[in-house]
Amino acid sequence: MCLDGRTEELMSIYSCPCCGEKTFNPLTKALAGQLNSKGKVCSNCGKHCTNGTASTIFRAVFCTAMFALVIITFLKALPHELLIYIGALAAMYIVPMLINAFCFKMEPTRRKDAAS
Ligand SMILES: [Zn+2]
Repeated sequence: MCLDGRTEELMSIYSCPCCGEKTFNPLTKALAGQLNSKGKVCSNCGKHCTNGTASTIFRAVFCTAMFALVIITFLKALPHELLIYIGALAAMYIVPMLINAFCFKMEPTRRKDAAS
């Protein structure tokens, strides 16, 4: 079972949300994906864990901002527009991963097909 709110403050962002063991690191957390992904398996309890709600919201907002940047670049025909397109695409992929590696708590995956 998942831990309740009383013990939550003692957990680091690399702790498994189900058993509380620190079984993740920045790399595995970055690769654990969002709530709608299968996530990574905790090596202690075997549950699938992903980055949580805050991370998912951040990613959505960030991708929207990058998309807006691309649209503005296109409409205004800014100089170096190809570089901006490539930079925005790379940032959409890399930034949420970096943020996931160092911020936000993990949550159990919400995908039913991830249950093992
Ligand atoms: Zn666990």
